[in-house]
Amino acid sequence: MRAEWLCVALAACGGTTWKPPPAEGIASPPGSEAPPPPAASVPPASKRAQSGDRLELGPGNAAMLLGDGRWVVELRPPARRFVTVGVAGKDDGLVRFEVVAQRPFHRLRNETFSDDRRLPIFVSFESPAEPISVRVVIDAKSEVRLVLVSESVDDIAPRLLRDVKAGKAEPRPLVGLPFPIEPRAGYVMEAPHRYGFVRTDVATALRAAFRQTRIRYKRNLLAVGDASQWNGGRPGADLDKARHISHDGGRDVDVALPSREDGASRIVRRCEGVLVENQRLQCAPGTVKGLDAERLAYFLGLLIDGPTPNGRHVPDASKRRPFADVETIFTDQAYIDEIRKALPGLKAKNWIHEEAFGALGEDGLLRPSPWHTDHVHIRFRGENARPAELLRFEPSRSIPGGRTSSSKR
Ligand SMILES: [Zn+2]
Repeated sequence: MRAEWLCVALAACGGTTWKPPPAEGIASPPGSEAPPPPAASVPPASKRAQSGDRLELGPGNAAMLLGDGRWVVELRPPARRFVTVGVAGKDDGLVRFEVVAQRPFHRLRNETFSDDRRLPIFVSFESPAEPISVRVVIDAKSEVRLVLVSESVDDIAPRLLRDVKAGKAEPRPLVGLPFPIEPRAGYVMEAPHRYGFVRTDVATALRAAFRQTRIRYKRNLLAVGDASQWNGGRPGADLDKARHISHDGGRDVDVALPSREDGASRIVRRCEGVLVENQRLQCAPGTVKGLDAERLAYFLGLLIDGPTPNGRHVPDASKRRPFADVETIFTDQAYIDEIRKALPGLKAKNWIHEEAFGALGEDGLLRPSPWHTDHVHIRFRGENARPAELLRFEPSRSIPGGRTSSSKR
């Protein structure tokens, strides 16, 4: 399945000439002039690395400044956390960002199908119960800031919205959706990962559903598109081109339509699109092609019903709770029709429970929406997630809040 990891992010990706430096090999950056003070557009003040320092980040949230040159930093993330490692700075300040680690973390690369090589860049993963060490190698042309943040994987319990509003409860954390490095993870990243941030419970729910779908059907991987920006904003707000009218706060995520083709199911239109009034793009009726509708219905059903051990049928709803509650699923009417056609087959096999069968079969949860001809957009209930302190920065080019240049949800 490694072939499905398309490497487009950095010049170093896929190269075979680069070798990891030895354990103590912290290269001396050329030049010893003190770099200029950090711009306000990067995370808050942190330690500046010196040539020859033994560089480590962790176990808490931490950041360090790295000047021009090559740097090797050992990361020691705490156990059982959603971990994100990021590099912020000027877009052309970073030449290389490599992760060198034991299995399965050796697969961590800043790789997504459609990357634009802009900073900040991030990789995210779920740390195991036993301690791990992850080494990152950074070649910088100008000063960059390396950030390590983590949140507990257990911090997923729902909050009462009124408690959050009254300041009596903190919102759940915003975390990078972990990269799918584990066997049978069932998904790939399509959007730049700086747009791949979700609330903790949403990350857990998606990962469980992707994994069970992969185990059940043994078919291709499903691409995950835009969620929220690293700082909780709308994807593209950092470039003053927000790509959606929602997607802030980590509770919206775009997922590709499953297909039966080779390679991953990408965010690709599975129908003939037509522009209707006010330039709204929809599927022309009767033109859906190449959609694996049963698998789509199964995946959505898992999110609604909650996971069960080994995909077993568990009629008693109190014995399976979804990790996150689905509020609305937006997609084209043509795909809604296909999902509904697939429901009786799933029911006959006991691969769906009453709750999802009912919710997907009637109007309300599934909502037809223009501009959803190539994906399903899943919105989860609850409060907007709380970004980590160290990730609350905006690039200097951004206008706070971001303008919306898209009518897409
Ligand atoms: Zn969306």
